[in-house]
Amino acid sequence: MSLISLIQKIQKHNPEAETDFDFLKTCYSFAENAHKKQLRKSGEPYFMHCVRTAEILAQLRLDMDTICAGLMHDVLEDTGIKRSELEKQFGKNIAHLVEGVTKIGRYKFSGGQRKRQADTYRKLLLATAEDMRVILIKLADRLHNMETLDYLSEEQQQRISKETLEIYAPIAHRLGIWSMMSRLEDLSFKYLLPEAYREIADLLNEKLDERQSYCKKMEVTIHAELKKHGISANVRGRTKHIYSIYQKMHQKGTPFKDICDLVGLRILVKDDWNCYSALGVLHLRWNYLPDRVRDWIGQPKKNGYQSLHTTILDDGKPIEIQIRSREMHQVAENGIAAHWSYKEGVPTTKEALSIFANYKEMLEDIQDTQDVPDRFIESMKLELFQDEVYVFTPKGDILALPVGSTAIDFAYKIHTDIGNTCCGAEVNNVLTPIREPLQNGDRVRILTHPKTTPSRVWLRMVKTANARTKIRHWFREKDRADALELGKTLLKAELQVSYLNANDYLKSPKLLEIAQQLGLENVEELCIRIGNASESATQVVNRLKPEKSQVVAEEQKAQQTEPTIQLENGIDLGMVRVMKCCNPIPGDDTVGYITRGRGVSVHRVGCVRLLDEPERFIAVNLQPVEGTNYPAQIFVECDDKPGMLGEITTAIAKFQVNIREGNFRASTVTRIDDTAADYFTLDVTGVEQLREVMDAVKSLKGVESVVRKM
Ligand code: MN
Repeated sequence: MSLISLIQKIQKHNPEAETDFDFLKTCYSFAENAHKKQLRKSGEPYFMHCVRTAEILAQLRLDMDTICAGLMHDVLEDTGIKRSELEKQFGKNIAHLVEGVTKIGRYKFSGGQRKRQADTYRKLLLATAEDMRVILIKLADRLHNMETLDYLSEEQQQRISKETLEIYAPIAHRLGIWSMMSRLEDLSFKYLLPEAYREIADLLNEKLDERQSYCKKMEVTIHAELKKHGISANVRGRTKHIYSIYQKMHQKGTPFKDICDLVGLRILVKDDWNCYSALGVLHLRWNYLPDRVRDWIGQPKKNGYQSLHTTILDDGKPIEIQIRSREMHQVAENGIAAHWSYKEGVPTTKEALSIFANYKEMLEDIQDTQDVPDRFIESMKLELFQDEVYVFTPKGDILALPVGSTAIDFAYKIHTDIGNTCCGAEVNNVLTPIREPLQNGDRVRILTHPKTTPSRVWLRMVKTANARTKIRHWFREKDRADALELGKTLLKAELQVSYLNANDYLKSPKLLEIAQQLGLENVEELCIRIGNASESATQVVNRLKPEKSQVVAEEQKAQQTEPTIQLENGIDLGMVRVMKCCNPIPGDDTVGYITRGRGVSVHRVGCVRLLDEPERFIAVNLQPVEGTNYPAQIFVECDDKPGMLGEITTAIAKFQVNIREGNFRASTVTRIDDTAADYFTLDVTGVEQLREVMDAVKSLKGVESVVRKM
């Protein structure tokens, strides 16, 4: 019975199909026999699941190997049959497909660690990149499992639905298999949020008759109008799938009434010329919403989708219309499967290859980020769910980017070097901030400068995994270079303290030996670890030191007592950052904190932000720079009397010290009795000058206290 119905399905959907079904029949009995004693939770024979899976594949017009592999997709998993047996009987091709599906089935996505989840996801996608048919069989298998999910436990329903909504539906979307995506989404939605699902389904049913009869009327009217102009068309009403309504309501905040007042119609015509003619006819006869017109024929979506969209107004009532040829409709419903060559079992058209290329590009982006599982999943979801904007290069080439992409995404898409040196962008000939999202049709020119480098802020401005990966990569390289530089400095300082000649020891074979004992390849790696605070310079130098007696002699000659980095305050050395929390200035007691991978941060001794990890401290001396001033904040408590503020500022001015900022609160806000509290930020050359100024202010009559802010 089922075999005949399966053959009928193949013949109905595949006019090209062979008339000889012997091979199919053999596979059928083989699988039926293998699953003979198994029952599904529903009580029906397990094998029915395999037949249904094969039928779904036949409806997608896939080739005979795929359909046969669909019939046998569970034999390796659930019965005692070996791959070698399968290969011997049915050939390498089919054995490979069945094995691929079996492997995917073993990946479990929900629950468990994020890292494992990311890893299995990557494996799954890689498996599909080898032979697309594996994922198509898996999707068919999953669709039938979702259709029969009622029989499983609630916990299983939740897990499988979540996995379907997060993983399989997006893959179907990416491959353009709309018919499958919408089914998978609606079914998972039904189990994950049953109440929301019911609510929308009920609302849809409420005015069903009214809507249907209006729809019928419009179908007839439009059909007649097109015919009058010599266009023969098939006009049909269409329903939105429930999950897409839910998304519109919850993500865009559109009320249900506004979504479902819309009648949706689809017009199928002969070819693309007729599509444009039909659009012209509609636009001449009805008013339409200009910003809702989309031409996906001239510029197809990345997943191959083609269609014209418009929204016309009938008595002020908006009607959404899609116009496409029959081939385009095949593609819209079945995506990459619509491009299948029945004979060869592979997609062959130019369009199919570009869908496949797009899919592979997504995979490559993902592989780059595989070391960061959380981000990987995030970027994966972003890439899969996003729609695209189409923008132009100055030469007129079109680039497709996810909606919300910025000039930075664009720059990295063109070339890594362009991204890394991007300093601005001209959008449609106007200089535009690089953080601004690009719009459809924008012409973008990237401005670069050899001295520009990426900024960490960019990570928040980009939408593509490609740009994010490349920016992170740049910073990893830079951090490495900084750590190397810092590590060398620390090692040299430590050597100096031990009265050893840095130049001799940095090149000594002994140092290489120490590096290798630590499992590192070379001295450079060792320096990087010291710069990252993963190794201590003191310990390395201790192991490097010659016999004690020798050192003592040298020690007596020397005067220096502790390792110190001499720094010129205010000069950015890349690896040293003077912290804003306590604003150290030359002359202050300072301490350097060796961070993990971000150089040394310099604080004043006693700063509350300084972590209590003495093993990471290093002495730092900030050196004043001629002609440079540093900000220091002081707090003055004084009598609240006329002229007081003037006296203070005059006293400060005598030292030629500039008041960068002042906050004078001789008001009721901070007033306690007759006291005023004033803050000043002064530009001073160092601690010495600051002390002089503070003393002068303190000596004024009426000033109670002068304190430097920590
Ligand atoms: Mn199965």
